[in-house]
Amino acid sequence: MAKYNTVMVGKKAVRIPIGEDGFVPEKDLLKRFDDWSAEDGGNPKSNRGWKDYTNRAEVVLPKKSTPQQVAQWWVNPGCCDIEDIDVPGKAKHNVQHLSRSQKKAQARIPIISTASEEKAVRRNLARSFTEDEMDTLSRSKTQIRVYPRTQKATGTYVPVSSTITVNRQNAVEQSTITHESVHALRDHDKKRTGILKRSDSVVVEESLTVAEQLARSSSSDPSGYYWNCQVFDEKKRRWRLPTNKEALSMANEDHMLFTNGRGKGLKGETAMNSVRKNWSKSHISRLSYKSNGKMAINQAAEMYDGIDKISKASTKSTGSIKTTTKGTPILASLRAKTRSKIKKN
Ligand SMILES: [Zn+2]
Repeated sequence: MAKYNTVMVGKKAVRIPIGEDGFVPEKDLLKRFDDWSAEDGGNPKSNRGWKDYTNRAEVVLPKKSTPQQVAQWWVNPGCCDIEDIDVPGKAKHNVQHLSRSQKKAQARIPIISTASEEKAVRRNLARSFTEDEMDTLSRSKTQIRVYPRTQKATGTYVPVSSTITVNRQNAVEQSTITHESVHALRDHDKKRTGILKRSDSVVVEESLTVAEQLARSSSSDPSGYYWNCQVFDEKKRRWRLPTNKEALSMANEDHMLFTNGRGKGLKGETAMNSVRKNWSKSHISRLSYKSNGKMAINQAAEMYDGIDKISKASTKSTGSIKTTTKGTPILASLRAKTRSKIKKN
């Protein structure tokens, strides 16, 4: 049972959660900040949470604070800041919970986030990547930031500074950090060649990054890009964008394809080989995004040897969805998600 302390702020009695250690738990601080950000006149675009986070207040409270200490903030988080919660704290390098090899590789990758976000991100990195791959990221001075953003993307990768950012709400999912780290590896891993290397074409880069993200993940967690994947409408004899159901089916089928039918995430060479072998028969290869309607595979056919175009006139089975695919439990839970909630990164 959650415990509370009642603290007087002026004449107002405020109930504030208190943990076993006498401090306000991190999850409650995050929730309060989130609620306050959302309360912003019902206008998410004004983004006051993000403004607060990026502007350092004169008074910054330590992350471990008592209900008494945070009382003013609890009433109005705009009044001052709490380290890690609504102002970035120092970069963290906590690797105690990782295996010995991962410890060494990840210790030099700084993460700016709360302690629990850092833990979730590092655990996901260890699930998706080999120690060599983590080593490549640390040698290229990649840094990771977990932000309280409400913008369109769940994450970003900025090549110039080799910075990965992950939206706070998405920090615990394996898919987001995996996707952005794949972008970073495609950029920095000198051993990569051909389609596994960073491409200047946005549609090719995103399509192959989603493919590799799925190869490395143990859940099919659908990328928003599936809603931009073209499908061939057998009745109307033309390509069109998918329905929600089709987008989810495609994500699920591709996940099975890229994990060699097992659904369990792969790492290192095995993951990359799967992308090399399976990409041109995947649904995500038909991604059309910022490409004037051109599919990734058709663009890639002009850039790499050994990749064939899909003709728009073709009725190849590669363009249609198996309508017999029954929803798996994962799919069923995802069906509730609406299109607008599933974001691109
Ligand atoms: Zn991306």
